[in-house]
Amino acid sequence: MKIEAGVPLARLTTIGTGGPARAFARPETVDELRAALAHAAELGLETAVVGLGSNLLAADTGVEALVVKLAGGLAAVEVSGSLVHAGGGAANAVVLHRARAAGLGRFEFACAIPGTVGGGVRMNAGAYGGDFAAVLERALVVERDGEAWRAAGEADLSYRHSALRPGEVVAAVELRLEARPAAEIRATVAELQAQRKAAQPTNRRTFGSVFKNPEHELSAGRMLDACGLRGFRIGGAQISPRHANFIENAGGARSADAVALMAEARRRAREEFGVVLEHEVELLGPIELPPL
Ligand SMILES: Cc1cc2nc3c(=O)[nH]c(=O)nc-3n(C[C@H](O)[C@H](O)[C@H](O)COP(=O)(O)OP(=O)(O)OC[C@H]3O[C@@H](n4cnc5c(N)ncnc54)[C@H](O)[C@@H]3O)c2cc1C
Repeated sequence: MKIEAGVPLARLTTIGTGGPARAFARPETVDELRAALAHAAELGLETAVVGLGSNLLAADTGVEALVVKLAGGLAAVEVSGSLVHAGGGAANAVVLHRARAAGLGRFEFACAIPGTVGGGVRMNAGAYGGDFAAVLERALVVERDGEAWRAAGEADLSYRHSALRPGEVVAAVELRLEARPAAEIRATVAELQAQRKAAQPTNRRTFGSVFKNPEHELSAGRMLDACGLRGFRIGGAQISPRHANFIENAGGARSADAVALMAEARRRAREEFGVVLEHEVELLGPIELPPL
């Protein structure tokens, strides 16, 4: 397994921003993953995992860590009965395709979530009433000191939350699905994707929802809309004119531009609604929101 230096995170994130990773590896087996983690320890580096980078904002100055992206066998998918066994680096789209081909439903919710199953477990990604918590049977978690299958309950999945700690890598998952005719799955997916296209910027570079929905009658998007932030721009980043809880790379954006937009959005939400918005996007490297 090759360890590369200076790979730009902008290439690994859907928003297309972020500086270089100090070290970068694409392990294809659990042994290679363990070797990568050991290598990071020898260099005195933290480890960070990147899936499809669809919920990540990485520092413009780069990340002093070994960044790991699961590949090969750690991104493969197999179906056995009603269980789908997938490497943590498998894209949701591939898992959905394989499940549909096997006549297995319950994963349709993930059709518009452009990430991996490892990232899905870490974030407990969800949409349209479904989430990973509902389908996860168990996850193989590898860390510096060992590896273990964790039952779904131990992962403690709740709204965009899991108990996984930094440095713990979801190397594989087992998802429990159920029989459903492929034609029905196809129809549900088409309907959900149409809903998505009607409401969100699907053809722009974003990192998905910026903020979690607060405990309030308004969702984060509606609240920021009411603050008049749709289309608001700083540098190359813009609050989506289509949906105010998305930030688009409108051309040449830096992560700092997105952070500045997030800070302004939080300030306005607090001022106008008394609500402190919590970010959903994961921040990687030396990057943080200023205190309110
Ligand atoms: C257009 C768009 C629409 C979206 N819609 C939704 C939606 O409807 N619902 C929703 O929940 N999310 C949505 N998202 C956000 C995002 O797709 C999900 O959070 C997704 O699960 C992230 O997966 P990823 O593989 O891209 O993870 P990344 O963005 O690469 O990483 C996210 C976090 O997970 C960690 N991680 C990644 N892989 C692993 C692993 N194997 N083991 C341990 N930790 C890991 C990372 O270290 C990081 O902390 C959307 C994003 C976009 C761009």
